[in-house]
Amino acid sequence: MGGGIQDGQPNRPLPQAGSSLIERIAGEGEVGGAGSGSETWGHGAPLRRQSPIDLRPLAVVRSASTQDYREIVDQAAAAFSVWRMVPAPKRGEVVRQIGTVLRWHKRDLAEVVSREVGKVRAEAEGEIQEMIDMADFAVGLSRMLYGITMPSERPGHRIYEQWHPLGPVGVITAFNFPLAVWSWNAFVALVCGDTVIWKPSSKATLSAVAAMKLIWPVLKSNDLPDGILNLVVGSGPSIGEAMIHDRRIPLVSATGSVRMGRQVATAVGARLGRTILELGGNNAAIVSPSADLDLAVRAVGFGAIGTAGQRCTTIRRVLVHADSFDGFCASLIRSYQELHIGNPLEDGVHMGPLIDAEAVNAMQAALQQLKDQGGRIIYGGKVLSGGLFDAGTYVTPCIAEARADMPIVHEETFAPILYAIRFRTMEEAMANLNAVPQGLSSAIFTNHLVEAETFLSAGGSDCGIANVNTGTSGAEIGGAFGGEKDSGGGREAGSDAWKAYMRRQTVTVNWSRKLPLAQGIEFKVG
Ligand code: NAD
Repeated sequence: MGGGIQDGQPNRPLPQAGSSLIERIAGEGEVGGAGSGSETWGHGAPLRRQSPIDLRPLAVVRSASTQDYREIVDQAAAAFSVWRMVPAPKRGEVVRQIGTVLRWHKRDLAEVVSREVGKVRAEAEGEIQEMIDMADFAVGLSRMLYGITMPSERPGHRIYEQWHPLGPVGVITAFNFPLAVWSWNAFVALVCGDTVIWKPSSKATLSAVAAMKLIWPVLKSNDLPDGILNLVVGSGPSIGEAMIHDRRIPLVSATGSVRMGRQVATAVGARLGRTILELGGNNAAIVSPSADLDLAVRAVGFGAIGTAGQRCTTIRRVLVHADSFDGFCASLIRSYQELHIGNPLEDGVHMGPLIDAEAVNAMQAALQQLKDQGGRIIYGGKVLSGGLFDAGTYVTPCIAEARADMPIVHEETFAPILYAIRFRTMEEAMANLNAVPQGLSSAIFTNHLVEAETFLSAGGSDCGIANVNTGTSGAEIGGAFGGEKDSGGGREAGSDAWKAYMRRQTVTVNWSRKLPLAQGIEFKVG
C-alpha cells in the first residue's frame, strides 16, 4: 500500500445542489463520532449538538466507547508501519491533495463551523483558509525535513542527524478553533510520517466529522490504508483520559484550558511521553503615548471582539498611558457602538453568539467579581434578549476600567471582556504586561523605536508572541505558534515546529578500517 500515490488532482465530486454539507452529514440520522478512514461509528453516549445561533438541533453524534477507542488506536498503530515508509515528498503530495479538497469546500466547511460554534462567516472562512495555508506549508516542508552533519573528531568517520517518524500522535482540540488547530498538527504530522488520532472538543464534533468525511476519500484514492487520520469523539473525560495514559501514543498535542493542560502534562509526563501544550492566554496590548491611536483602536477592537472574545490570543487587557486613556477609551466605545451583533451567517455581522449559556454565565460572574474588586464597566457586558437573542448566548462586548493588580484581571475569562488599565511609565506598563500567569501573546502600539525594541528585548515581553503595531490575535501559520508560562510552552504550525513530531537520530558511520574511540580513549585487550 502507499505505492499508489499519484501526482494530480483528486476527483472533484459533483456539486450536490440544495443540500449543505451539514445537512448531508446530519441527514444521515445519528452521526458516528469514531472513524479511521471511511465510515464512522460509535458505541458511546449520544451528544446532542445544537447551534449557539438559535439553539436549533444540528445532529446527534454518537461518541466513541473505550472499545471503539482501542480499535482506532490499533488501526493508527498498524497504519503507522505503512505510512512511515512512504517517502516524505509523497506524503506531501497527499497533503497537497487534501489542500485542494479544502479549497473546493471552503465555504461549505466554514458554514458547518459557523453553525456549530457561532463564528461569523468571514472568520470561519478564515479558519478554513488557515487549513489550506497549513497544507501548502506542509507540502513544502515534506522536502525540507533537514538533518545536519557535523565534523567528527575521529578520522574516517561521519556524524549526522536524521529525523524519523515518531508514531501515532494524539491531537486534542478546543472548541474555538475546531479545525485549524487540528490542521496545524495533522498536516505537519502527516508529512513527518506520523498517523494522527484526533479527539475534538465535544462542543465541536460535527465540524470534525465534516472535515474527516471530506478528507478521508483523498487517502482512499491514493490506495492508503485506514488508520492514517483517525477521529474519536469523546463524551465526558473517558476518551481524553484514555489517550493521555496510552503508551502507544508517544506525543499528545493538546489545546485548551490551563486546567486541562496540567492534567495532560501530569499524565503524559508520568509515562515519559511528549506533549505539546497550547493553553489559555491573558494577552495584553500596550498603547504608548507615541502610538497612532486610530490604528490602535481598530486593532484592539478586532483583537478583543473577534470570535466574540473566544480566541486564545484575544486582547483581554489594554494598557494605555494615563494622558491618552480617556480619549482612547472614548474612541474604542464609539467603535463598539457601531458593531453589528447577530446571526453570524448574515453579511455585515461582526460578532455572533458565545458558545453556550455556560460561557455567558461565566462572563457575568467575572463582571460581578470585577465590580466587587473595585472595577467599573464603561461599556456593554449585557446579556441580550428578544428575537434571535432569546437563545441566551448573545452579549454586548464589554470594556471595563480596571487596575492591573485585581485578581480577576489575572484570569482568562473566555468572553469579550476588555480590561482597560492606566499606566504612567513604560516600565510600569511592561511589568504589568508580564504580571499574569499566562504568556501567550502580547503587543505594543508605538512609533518610538526605543519602546518597540525594549518590548522585544530579553527584558521585554515574556510571551511566545510579541507584536508591534498589530494586535495579539490573527497569527500567520509561517511562524511557530505558542506561549510560555501557564500558556504551556508548546509550538505548532510553522518554523521548525515539525521537529516535535519526529524522533531525532544521531548517526556515526566509521568508514575507516580502524577503530579510534572518541575522546582519545585507548581500549586494548590482550
Ligand atoms: P477545555 O480545556 O475545556 O477543552 C479542550 C480540550 O481538552 C477538549 O477536547 C476537552 O475534551 C479536552 N480535555 C479536557 N480535559 C481533558 C483531560 N483530562 N484529558 C484529555 N483531554 C481533556 O477548553 P475549551 O473550552 O474547549 O477551549 C477554550 C480554552 O482553550 C481557552 O483556555 C483557550 O485559551 C484555549 N485555547 C488555546 C489555544 C492555544 O493555541 N494556545 C488555542 C485555542 C484555545
